[in-house]
Amino acid sequence: MPDVRHTLIEATHRLGDRVDAEVLLAYALSKPRSWLIAHADDELSLEHASAYKLLIEQREAGEPVAYITGRRGFWSLDLEVTPDTLIPRPETELLVELALERLPLDKACYVLDLGTGSGAIALAIARERTQAQVIATDASAEALAVAQRNARRHHVGNVSFEHGDWFAPVGDRRFDVIVSNPPYIESSDPHLQQGDLRFEPMSALASGKDGLDDIRRIVRDAGLHLVKGGWLLFEHGWNQGDAVRVLLRNAGFVELSTARDLEQRDRVSMGRWPVSSGCDSP
Ligand code: GLN
Repeated sequence: MPDVRHTLIEATHRLGDRVDAEVLLAYALSKPRSWLIAHADDELSLEHASAYKLLIEQREAGEPVAYITGRRGFWSLDLEVTPDTLIPRPETELLVELALERLPLDKACYVLDLGTGSGAIALAIARERTQAQVIATDASAEALAVAQRNARRHHVGNVSFEHGDWFAPVGDRRFDVIVSNPPYIESSDPHLQQGDLRFEPMSALASGKDGLDDIRRIVRDAGLHLVKGGWLLFEHGWNQGDAVRVLLRNAGFVELSTARDLEQRDRVSMGRWPVSSGCDSP
């Protein structure tokens, strides 16, 4: 029987990726990844070896590792993900950080996460701000079911989930901070036909000709759902920073900025709903 070390060498060769090979082997063995290092000389049982072979074949056929294992880490959370949800990306943690900077540590406040998917952003914020009430919406009932399971699994009690398109489920409620990782890829972008993206829900990725259809709606309606001085923050593509700041400015937002991710690419833009709008002045 092959041992762990040689199994991993062969799988890494086949997949061209050591991390994927390790994550899948740990999953096949129901062990943490760290176990593999200490047990490099252990032999695999026949059952484990054939279970692993199947996983490698799924991955070779292009299926994302997160969908094979049904899990992905985000912030401090181990999240369930399914093909009904986008796979949380590390760069989206930037959006969480920027939102937290705008949320008090010790005061009640209201946060809205639009298009929550697996619940990644809403749950990370709720975890860090236990006095905040977070509402997370999604147009996909299947995605919301996953998000709800993630909330239960992590015992996060200050998030509630509501089904519907963007702001539709929240009526005329107003929030201190609105966050979103909406779809923003151009519908003709060839990347949608490549790699992991092929397996992810198209409705969570693509948004019209210039990728901005959903962002336009969110920016247009956000003012109706923010308290004065509240913030709207959302993720977007690396080449959309200029365009989304124009949208924010035209919608009446102030204190506009765009933050870059670890690869120095524009990734999150934000604006503040004015404390006193022009209309209030005498
Ligand atoms: N950042 C993702 C990607 O480019 C897209 C996620 C999104 O559209 N919200 O792969």
